[in-house]
Parts: sequence; C-alpha cells; structure tokens
Amino acid sequence: MANKLIYFFGKSKTDGNGDMKALLGGKGANLAQMTKIGLPVPSGFTITTEVCVSYYKNGRKAPAELAGEMEKAVKWLEKETGKKFGDVKNPLLVSVRSGARDSMPGMMDTILNLGLNDATCEGLAAATNNPRFAWDSYRRFLQMYGDVVMGVQKKHENDHEPFEEVMDQLKKEAKVKDDTELSAEHLQELVKRFKKLIKDFTGKAFPTDPIKQLEGAVFAVFSSWMNERAILYRQKYRIPDEWGTAVNVQAMVFGNMGDDCATGVAFTRDPANGENVFYGEYLVNAQGEDVVAGVRTPLTIAEMAKDKIISAAHKELNEIRKTLEKNFGDVQDFEFTIEKKKLFMLQTRNGKRTALAYVKIAHDMVKEKLMTPEHAIKSGDPEALNQLLQPIFDVVAYEKARKEGRLMAVGLPAGPGAASGSVVFTAGKAEELAAKGKSVVLARIETSPEDLRGMIASDGILTARGGVSSHAALVARQMGKVCVAGAGDIEIDYHKGTLKCKGVTLKEGDHISINGTTGEVFHGAIATADSELKQVLVNKTMKPKDSKVFQYYDFLMKLADKYRTLGLRTNADQPDQVVNAIAFGAEGIGLCRTEHMFFEGDRIIAVRQMILAKEEDDRKKALATLLPYQQKDFEGIFRALDGLPACIRLLDPPLHEFLPQHDNKKGQEEVAKQLKTTVAEVAKMVSELHEFNPMLGFRGCRLGILRPEITEMQARAIFQAAAVVLKEGIKVKPEVMVPLVGFKKELDLQVEIVHRVAAEVMKATGKKFAYTVGTMIEVPRGALTADEIAESAEFFSFGTNDLTQTCMGMSRDDSGSFLPAYQNLEIIKANPFASIDRTGVGQLMKIGVDKGRSTKPDLKIGICGEHGGDPSSVEFCHIIGLNYVSCSPFRVPIARLAAAQAAIRHPAKPVAAKVIKDTKSKTGATKSKTSVK
Ligand code: ADP
Ligand code: MG
Ligand code: MG
Repeated sequence: MANKLIYFFGKSKTDGNGDMKALLGGKGANLAQMTKIGLPVPSGFTITTEVCVSYYKNGRKAPAELAGEMEKAVKWLEKETGKKFGDVKNPLLVSVRSGARDSMPGMMDTILNLGLNDATCEGLAAATNNPRFAWDSYRRFLQMYGDVVMGVQKKHENDHEPFEEVMDQLKKEAKVKDDTELSAEHLQELVKRFKKLIKDFTGKAFPTDPIKQLEGAVFAVFSSWMNERAILYRQKYRIPDEWGTAVNVQAMVFGNMGDDCATGVAFTRDPANGENVFYGEYLVNAQGEDVVAGVRTPLTIAEMAKDKIISAAHKELNEIRKTLEKNFGDVQDFEFTIEKKKLFMLQTRNGKRTALAYVKIAHDMVKEKLMTPEHAIKSGDPEALNQLLQPIFDVVAYEKARKEGRLMAVGLPAGPGAASGSVVFTAGKAEELAAKGKSVVLARIETSPEDLRGMIASDGILTARGGVSSHAALVARQMGKVCVAGAGDIEIDYHKGTLKCKGVTLKEGDHISINGTTGEVFHGAIATADSELKQVLVNKTMKPKDSKVFQYYDFLMKLADKYRTLGLRTNADQPDQVVNAIAFGAEGIGLCRTEHMFFEGDRIIAVRQMILAKEEDDRKKALATLLPYQQKDFEGIFRALDGLPACIRLLDPPLHEFLPQHDNKKGQEEVAKQLKTTVAEVAKMVSELHEFNPMLGFRGCRLGILRPEITEMQARAIFQAAAVVLKEGIKVKPEVMVPLVGFKKELDLQVEIVHRVAAEVMKATGKKFAYTVGTMIEVPRGALTADEIAESAEFFSFGTNDLTQTCMGMSRDDSGSFLPAYQNLEIIKANPFASIDRTGVGQLMKIGVDKGRSTKPDLKIGICGEHGGDPSSVEFCHIIGLNYVSCSPFRVPIARLAAAQAAIRHPAKPVAAKVIKDTKSKTGATKSKTSVK
C-alpha cells in the first residue's frame, strides 16, 4: 500500500485531526482532535480504514508492510509513555479499539489491558504496589481476548457467558456479591481458571507475547467489521460495507486502581430531552466497559461533585464539557477515566439523541451560537422526525391507571413516548409477535447487541438493570424507541417467563405499558393519544404557544426552508389531508388521484354504469351523474389549497378494479340488481376487462384515449370547480396531469380535449382561469422520448412507482417473494420501491429531465411517487434538478428536512448528464469504490 498506514496522536506529535473521520474513523479522528486542543488523552496510534478495506479485498490478509509499521509504532508509543511492551518492571499496556467512520456503539470489539501475561502481571503488581489491581486487569484482558479473538462465547441466547459463569462460581465459593469484593488471591485464581477455560474451549493456549497479542487483536477488530450484529447495524443505518473500520491502539489508563479512580460516560446535554444539563454516570474503581455493561449500578455525574476524593475531576469535567461543545459544535457523548485523581479523556463523538432532543438542541445551540445553522440541519435524521408524531398516553386513561394503582415501577426515562402491548422476554418472541401485527414491549434484565432484532420489532423496551449509557438506552435514543431503562424494582425470570414487581406477576403475553418520557411502568393496557405536534398542527386542540415541542420543531423547519431549494408538495385527494399537509409545510398538491373519489358513497354505481354501458350515449349519461360529485370534490380541494397549485391526475387504474371480480359472485349479483341488468352481463364484462397483468394493460391515458368522454367529464369537473371557487374570491391553479404517457401523440389527444373543455367552461361561466396540462413520466419510453413529449407538455411529474416497476420489469405487489432474498444477496441494496434506484431508474429520470429541458429549458418537473418522502430519493431529486417533490401529508416534515440537507450537501446544480452512482446520503460516502467481500 502506498498510503500511510498508521497515524500517531500524543505529546510529541499528532498526525490526524477531527476532519479525518473517513480515514481514521470517528474515534481515531476525535482522539487526535482532542489531543490537538490540549485535552488530556493517553497517547496512541490509529491504523487507517484503508488497511481494513485492503484486508478484505485481499481475502482477509493485511498489507505486507503492516507488521513492520506496527512494530515501529509500538516503539514510538514506548518512547511516549516511558514504558515497554513485555517489560516485567514497567510494562506498557494498551487498548485495541475499533472505530468506524460513523460510530457504531457496541457493534464491534475492543480489548483492554493488552500486553499482560504472567510475568508482566507480576511486574505491574510490583510497580503499582497493587497486586489486586494487576490481577483484576489481567483477568479482564483474558476475558476480552478469549471472547473476541479466540471465540470463547455462549452458544444460545439464554446461556450465560462462559467467563461470567466461571466468575460467578468463584464468587459463590468466595461468598461475595460484587466483583470488587474479590481479593488479589481470588483474582489470581480466576486468571488460572480463565486460562483453563480458554484451553478447554479452543484447544489452544493463550498467547503470552505482547506483539502476538497485538496482532491477534488488530485482526479481530478487522473481523468484527463483518460480524452479524455489525452487518445488521449497517443495514439499518445504511452504512456501506465498503467503509471499513480503523483500529486504535492506545496506552491504557486505569480506573480500577482504587477509590481515587473511576470511569464514566457523559453527555454535554441530556440526549433524551435535550435539556442543557450535564448528564452522565460513573463508577468508582472500575474499568471502561463496566459502566455500559451494568455490572454495578453507576452513580450519576452530579454525585461526583460530592465525592471527597475525586470532586476536583468533576470540576474539570464540567469545564471540558464546555470546551467540547465549543470545539465540536454539537452535543458530545464522551468517555473518561480517572486514574489516581487524574482525569483522562478516552473518546468523544456527536451524541446520538432522540428527535425531541434533536429539535431542542438544534434550537438552543444555534441560539447560543455554539452550533452552526448548517450543522443543525445536517445533523438531523429526517426519518426520525416521525418520533415527534409518536403517541403519548391518553390523559384520562393514564390518570385512571395511576388511580387504580397499576404503577409498578419507575426507571430511567430513556426514550420518550408511550408504548402499551404484550410483554415478551426474548428478542425472538418479540419478532414473532410483531410479525403477527401485535404491539410488544420487550423486557430484559438488560439488553445486549444480540437483542437488536427484537428491539427493532418492539414498540417499547424495558430493562431492569443499566443506566443512561446502557445498551438499551443507547439503542432507544438512536432508533427513537420508547424505552424505560434500569427499572430496578422489577424482577425478570427468563426461565419461568415472568416479570414480577410489588406482588404483581406478569407472564409472557400479558399487557404492560411504559412511559418513556417519565420512566413509569404500569401493568395492563393504557390507551394512547396524539403527540403535541399533532395536537397543534392537525387536531388544532393545542395552541402553538403552549407547546415547547412545537416551537422547537417550528424553529428547525423554518431554518430548513432557508436552505431548501426544492419545492414541497403533497399527495392528497381530500380537503382535510390537504389542510394537514399545508400545516406541515406543503406548498401545493403534487398528486391528486381522482379515482379515490369514485369509490365514495353511491358514486360507484354511476362508475359501474359507465363501465357497463354499451352505447356512448349511456356512457355519457352515467358520466353526467358523476360530474357534479367530481366537481364538488375539486371545489373542496381548491378551497383548502387557497391559491396553491393542484396537480390533478386523470383517471388511471384499469376499469376492472371498479367491478366485483370472478370470486365475488355475490358482489356481481348486487351490481346486476343495482344496474337492472343480469348477473351474466356483469360477469361477461368482468371477463372482458380481465387482465393478465393489470399493471401493463388498459389503464392510464389509454382509458382516456379510447373513452374520451371520461377525460372530458373530468376536465369539466375540474374547470367548473375552478370557476366556482374563483367566484368566491379564492385563487385556483389547476394542473391537469395525463398518466402513463409513452408517445407524444397520446398526450396530444388528451391535451386537445382538455383545452377544448377549458374554453367551453370559460365561455359558459364567463370566468377566466389559468391552468396547465402536463404529463406523468412513468414508463421508460416516456423518459426516453421526453424531448418529443415536452413539446406538448407544460410540466412533467415522475411517477416513480410505475417507472420503477416498468424499468425493472418487477411488479411491486409481487416482489415480496424474492425482494428480501435479493437484498440479502446484495443484488439490490435498498428496496427500490421505497428508495429510488439511482443507477437504473434514476438514469431514466435523468434522461427525462435532460431531454425534456432540451425542448423546454424551464420545464417544471416534479415527482409524485412514494419516493417523494424518502430522504435519499429527495436528495436524488435535488441532484438531478427537479423543481419539487411530493409525498403523503405526514411525510412532509421529513421531505422538508431532507430537501434542506440535500441543498447543503449539493450546493450547485449539476452540470453534465453524467451517470449518478448509487451514493449513500452520508457525507463523503461516494469516495470509496472498493468493495468488501
Ligand atoms: P466502544 O466503541 O464499544 O465504546 P471503546 O473502544 O470505546 O469501545 O472501549 C470500550 C471501553 O474501554 C470504553 O469505556 C473506553 O473508555 C475504555 N477504554 C478504551 N481504551 C482505553 C484506555 N486506553 N484506557 C482506559 N480505558 C480505555
Ligand atoms: Mg466507546
Ligand atoms: Mg402510475
């Protein structure tokens, strides 16, 4: 490899900085940055992500130079620290830590205290005059190394960890409860048993040479990039496999040398609700993982101020809290260790937070000038805004539950919102019940990364142990799950399948309700209610001034509007939907589907009459019945829009969808009765209209071309409604959209009708209104001949649902049988019906845009497929220069933020028609092209 493999951070020199996350991983880059700004960081070095990528590219083999470079780096670190690897008097011990570009907490492995063996352990004991500490460090090292590098792990979900089992046995023999109560002699014995466990389990002896240990650990970290939970995590958060992880090797500092030592994690602000309070926890006389693992219950950071021995460190931390926010421009989630009263910083990163905390922190920190408005926009997960719409407990039901004394316990409020459902105790069961459509609350003593699938499937998560930095709390923050962590009063028995608390026993499947905003746990079900945001914007039962959440949200959305260049519309066909969408920020309708109106009330009878009519006259009669209904619908929509544009699609679905099918004889009898005809007649029409592949049949503009009177009626309804509403003094902007056009001539035939009818209506009503006629681009031929079609179209709108189906030759409704397998095999990275396939479908869109605008440079182009509310697709629409995106009302805030992010990420409009590669919507994701096998 030509590039530098290793970067140093330390007193004598620091090669990297906080901007080098792609190369050094988030952990490595920020360790370098903290060192640079003078924070106390133990020295070390970072092996780059490029080495990991090369390791996978070459069939899990590291570049030849790595061993030599690593030896040099160790020499450097020995000089930095004044200690030596394998030295029996003053041994250098290191941690070997994974660190990807984006943090993936707990997903990959870390090994602490590397460098210990029987000889160096004795040396450490003598040098520190603390044998207990030395043996404790040694046993921890054996445990981590045995697990991560040598594979000594439990085999089933509910097994105990093999090392834990050995340790529990010894604790029993020693008659102690906490591991801190084990004496040096106990720990020495434990080391002996751990070594035996490793030998018995693997058939191999534990390596004693520190350099060998280091090599083993580095490769184990590389390998952990491809472990199941890391892969699952990356899928969920769309982190490309190609990124690889960096490896950090860092001199150890010790939080487990006595009562003047501690270790902890903290946030510069509360990541659950965003409050500006120092938030975190720590353990005295403990090492790193203990805090997260929930071995002992940690103390809150506020309590440190009262600790006589280490209170000075609390002061220092409080200062660092400010330094970090100032320097990193965001809330930081950091790790620290106090060794003999001296504070060391071990990690910092932008804190993961709930959507509630996100909007509050963005609001506060922008106002405090600690965060740039750009970062406030960029750092949010648009999808997570959904959390703000998540239900809370219904006030009445909640009060009732309290009065009935159903409150069982109170834990930490780790994920805001309310969840009520069946309690389950294993991830597997959670998945199983959720697949059946049940609401579930997963209750575990504590969660671990293996529970991730079950946690994803659950509505809420409840743990008996663990604090604010426990795995459960961490995942809840990130996934926006309702979560109560560390409800210490509850007792969970996995074997019996019960949850007990204050005399109440719940069995698997019983109802439980948790309030992640307050930490309360109730037995029984509690009804839920709308979130404040919904109450303000949708139900209008709450005033904006009474809702802080709304105010933070509103601040952020308005900020987003400053950056966004894409327009924002909604897919809606009812006035109330339109009103909601506008409240969320929509600037018009991008798709009004007229067929939905055909099903309401008894209009369907007229629709069926129209379909069954043999003569044109009968057809016209039926349509005349429909006309006033359609007109009224459009009037309602125009009023709701109050001058905003409405893109209305002419009838699109195949006609058989309006008739009861073959398997519905009863329905057919009913229709025959309604229409005063015979069942045979109805059945015959059903047969005639039957299609083998309805997706590609008699639908779209084909209907309007063969049955022009349908188009005529719809155009008339639209324009008469326009005239009526205009008379009321309300502006109208109808845009008539012809679906499924593949030939210019198709559009011409329809445009002609629309113009004729418009002129007739204007004449009859004496009202002049502006309108446009355009088309959907949703079959490949339409995109490929967009230059011709643009001659007749005043606008385009990409119907990406059909365009994806027809481009891929894949029916969305039938894709369930193979699409999941395709995703597993990575034939397709994301579901193309949820997120635009940029390379294929996207290329058709790009062609459509370029060709369309080659004819009409100012052609207005939008998107109205499902994809219009998907952040990555919104980004793509921005890149190819669309004018607006359109999505369902409740996704408008998501598209709004995503559009602002896209504008920040891609400030200039693209120039040439180059093929756009499948980029992930993460910063800088396009760089690495190597693939990991
Ligand atoms: P993760 O990415 O899972 O958080 P880390 O690499 O941060 O893993 O390490 C796990 C724990 O070990 C953390 O609590 C960290 O603070 C601690 N740790 C890592 N390196 C050192 C070190 N050099 N000295 C002391 N503690 C360390
Ligand atoms: Mg960490
Ligand atoms: Mg379509």
